[in-house]
Amino acid sequence: MTDSPPDPRPLFVGGAPRPATSGTTFETRSPFSGDVIATVQTASAADVDAAVAAARDAQRAWAALGGAARGRVLARAADLIRARRDEIARLESLDGGKPIQETPEADVDSGADCLEYFAALAPTIGGETQTLSGDGAGPWFYTRREPLGVVGGIGAWNYPFQIACWKTAPALAAGNAMVFKPAEQTPLSATILAEVLHEAGAPPGLFNLVQGDAAVGRMLTAHPGIAKISFTGEINTGKAVMADSAATLKVLTLELGGKSPLLVFDDADVDDAVSAAILGNFYTQGQICTNCTRVFVQRGILDAVLARLLPRAEAIRLGDPLDPATQMGPLISPEHHRSVLAHIDRARADGARLLTGGGAPDDPALAGKPFVRPTVFLAEDDALPLCRDEIFGPVMTVLPFDTEDEAVTRANSLPVGLAGGVMTRDLTRAHRVAARLEAGVVWINTYNITPIEMPFGGVKQSGLGRENGRAALEHVTRVKSVYVEPGPLEAPY
Ligand code: NDP
Repeated sequence: MTDSPPDPRPLFVGGAPRPATSGTTFETRSPFSGDVIATVQTASAADVDAAVAAARDAQRAWAALGGAARGRVLARAADLIRARRDEIARLESLDGGKPIQETPEADVDSGADCLEYFAALAPTIGGETQTLSGDGAGPWFYTRREPLGVVGGIGAWNYPFQIACWKTAPALAAGNAMVFKPAEQTPLSATILAEVLHEAGAPPGLFNLVQGDAAVGRMLTAHPGIAKISFTGEINTGKAVMADSAATLKVLTLELGGKSPLLVFDDADVDDAVSAAILGNFYTQGQICTNCTRVFVQRGILDAVLARLLPRAEAIRLGDPLDPATQMGPLISPEHHRSVLAHIDRARADGARLLTGGGAPDDPALAGKPFVRPTVFLAEDDALPLCRDEIFGPVMTVLPFDTEDEAVTRANSLPVGLAGGVMTRDLTRAHRVAARLEAGVVWINTYNITPIEMPFGGVKQSGLGRENGRAALEHVTRVKSVYVEPGPLEAPY
């Protein structure tokens, strides 16, 4: 493990750690122990200006380098991330409360995969050419896929390192520079991304890290030197980001929340269906945007699903995120804990049937910490807040249904559409339902698998744009058309 920067942790601007000029700091705490892990310096408006200026300076030469050279830097950075895998995983578990069972693969490898993938794609970014006359002697045009300039990244707290990588890798591959702000609850791991990019040969200023809360986020959305905001967070924050970006008409990628459906048909493999529902509700304490918090189960298979689901949910082991035996850690903060418990209390008061969980665990070792037992409700009424609101905790609702049409209609009934899943052995139905679901991502007979090759993002109020896959490159570039006239130019005047 390398030495952590001394407290209070600086920003990273122009290729080096840089003290903030605001004179203010904030603390980040372990969700498990409640102890302060680090104190971090808050960026001022002048610091954000300096970061944007450094990014602008770096960006032109970086774009001029060409894709192959840019890709080599990203590939080296991916190697350096893999070399620091244990350190990054431990930091993510400490700062975010995620079980150490999860973070090496789901956070670190996913970030490194992303840098590798876009490293390989960087030399392939190009345009199209078309001749406009049959004999080829007439006019023709070509297009250039050009970088946007400086991209502002704003991250959520649930996958801090992964989000930083998912936003940065395609942006840099396409020749942009980045100014990134992590969530205030999980500010630490993004510094490692800054360090590895720098060590891998990224020019000073290509990746800049500014720290702070929503006020610093707003400095990015308002900044005239930033061409695009790539945001991950709540729907209402996304709307504020969109409104604030309007003044400078920024390009936007918005990765927002959801209330995704999993449709379990009565011909599904029961164990697989339960596995999908559990993976899609309890991984990372349920703090995942794509989670299938509405599990629609066809009535013929309902009893079998519940009989297998409840004991498996009850067997999930809660504990210290740094203990390798722990399967579920604490929620991110006491405030978020209170919010999740309030949703559960409201659901009970509204008449939803609590089948298991519903509160803090009995284990005295976990008393007073922000834990919530894996919780399963059974409900019939889609109108309940339980079935409409994103809770962002380990709270699953099972909703019985009778027909495919009914299930699809109910699944599509919300104004959000991030993801969805279908569990069935009927191939025709699987693809038919996948086509009908109003969602950016649909899984068939699995859930929540997000390979870097596959475009990721939402529809309706779950977001705009796409991360990952080749599709991401369209959202960090703009197309310029160049028309070429090889012959004499005729004019009527
Ligand atoms: P928030 O919307 O609260 O915050 C997200 C980021 O935006 C944070 O860095 C926050 O700063 C910053 N921010 C807050 N207000 C503003 C503002 N007005 N202008 C600019 N920036 C602002 O989300 P959470 O961090 O609570 O994350 C949870 C949410 O993220 C859930 O809704 C979840 O569904 C969604 N999410 C979506 C994903 C997707 O890919 N679709 C993936 C992961 C999560 P700070 O927190 O420091 O104050």
